[in-house]
Amino acid sequence: MKTKEAVVFKIAWNACIKCGACVAVCPQEAGFTSEFDTIAEHAACDIACMFCETVCPVSAITHKMLAAEVE
Ligand code: SF4
Repeated sequence: MKTKEAVVFKIAWNACIKCGACVAVCPQEAGFTSEFDTIAEHAACDIACMFCETVCPVSAITHKMLAAEVE
């Protein structure tokens, strides 16, 4: 039985200004990034602090509960 609800993030690339704020506040291990220097997209995040969503100046980050996508 799962004890943590992991999430996966989605980034609206047409809105992202590549400011790097999401990576700066992210407590995940180094490397939880995309090729565009944002937090990783479509990768499981088991911390789910949502700091990245909060800090993003253009609200480009959204998430889904991983359990809702994968059994
Ligand atoms: S905080 Fe938002 S605008 Fe800045 S790099 Fe991350 S997703 Fe893009």
